[in-house]
Amino acid sequence: MFKVNRNYLKLPGSYLFSTIAKKVAAYKEMHPEKEIISLGIGDVTQPLAPAVIEALHSAVEEMSRAETFHGYAPDLGYEFLRKAIAENDYKERGVQIALDEIFVSDGAKSDSGNIVDIFSEDNIIAVTDPVYPVYVDSNAMSGKTGEYIQEKESWSKVIYMPCTEENRFVPEIPEETPDIIYICCPNNPTGTTLKKEELQRWVDYANEKRAVIIYDAAYEAYISEEDVPHSIYECEGAKTCAIEMRSFSKNAGFTGTRLGFTVVPKELKAADGTMLNSLWARRHGTKFNGAPYIIQKAGEAVYSDAGKAQTKEQIAYYMNNAGQIRKELSAMGYTVFGGVNAPYIWLQTPEGMKSWEFFDLLLEEANVVGTPGSGFGPSGEGYFRLTAFGSAENTTKALERIRAL
Ligand SMILES: *Cc1c(COP(=O)(O)O)cnc(C)c1O
Repeated sequence: MFKVNRNYLKLPGSYLFSTIAKKVAAYKEMHPEKEIISLGIGDVTQPLAPAVIEALHSAVEEMSRAETFHGYAPDLGYEFLRKAIAENDYKERGVQIALDEIFVSDGAKSDSGNIVDIFSEDNIIAVTDPVYPVYVDSNAMSGKTGEYIQEKESWSKVIYMPCTEENRFVPEIPEETPDIIYICCPNNPTGTTLKKEELQRWVDYANEKRAVIIYDAAYEAYISEEDVPHSIYECEGAKTCAIEMRSFSKNAGFTGTRLGFTVVPKELKAADGTMLNSLWARRHGTKFNGAPYIIQKAGEAVYSDAGKAQTKEQIAYYMNNAGQIRKELSAMGYTVFGGVNAPYIWLQTPEGMKSWEFFDLLLEEANVVGTPGSGFGPSGEGYFRLTAFGSAENTTKALERIRAL
């Protein structure tokens, strides 16, 4: 008789966005006449840029002829794409990344979930609280988080680093020493960032403790302030302690097209000298069979002059929404954070309302869907996330409805 992976049975609750989808579906069924605006899930709405579409078409054309047909992609990804990444994302910022340190994938969600494969279950994991749920759940699924403590809403082998208004949402070095530290910057959900010196402090700490930082830079393209690093490798010593993940989803609208990459420097070694680069290469080659050729060509086009200009416009469009949400909510008396270097606005719920209470209020009275902060961790209680990924029209309309509450 087969047995299931019992780690799955220990997972608390259901996945946040499934719960939201169910609540919204139930409301729609009761009120089919209502028009609901979603500023909830972090998904883009602008179509793919013309340069990307053009690259897709011509890659499809290549696939139709025997001489230019492509089968399985190389393990690490096509060199044309890894070169474009090394050149544009790193060399231009003064960082040297070798081509065999870049692993092309189908996105940062799978990479951040899969990276747990190369670590032992004996590690202590540190995450910010609130946190992108994938980091903790993927560790829990492979039995790396210890026991779930119901009354604390936390796992015994996970250190939760509270990020609140008091510390400007910047995680502080915890009392207990972690082995694996997850940092998402710009942050989902709080929309906040670490300045260079703040990130450098984490890099120095990780090197001193021989810990590894898993750095999720999915929102790198939204950084507008000068002193915020775009890559963790801009910090001195990061190559001996950090893995960086990137995605084409939020900077170029590939959420449905799927493309991302992970950088694992060769200098990054465990205490016994094992190179994490070799382990990840082995894992990648065994359990992943490459992102599609046509999508990698589309990714390459993001780095063309036209691609850069067009995706920059898309980001400006979303950040215009972000600015509007920030400005108008502030004028209504809300306390808001984020929305400057990220497409997320993190607001305090009014009058100390619980996050889910505010969710229900917004859904029922304004027909606007957002994301309750408590879904991202205990410190998210009393906060609420709105995204700037809607259309400008819907963003304006949603704000009018919130004003009328
Ligand atoms: C959207 C997002 C990703 C990227 O996901 P993809 O799988 O590349 O679409 C990664 N990390 C965070 C924190 C995100 O919000």
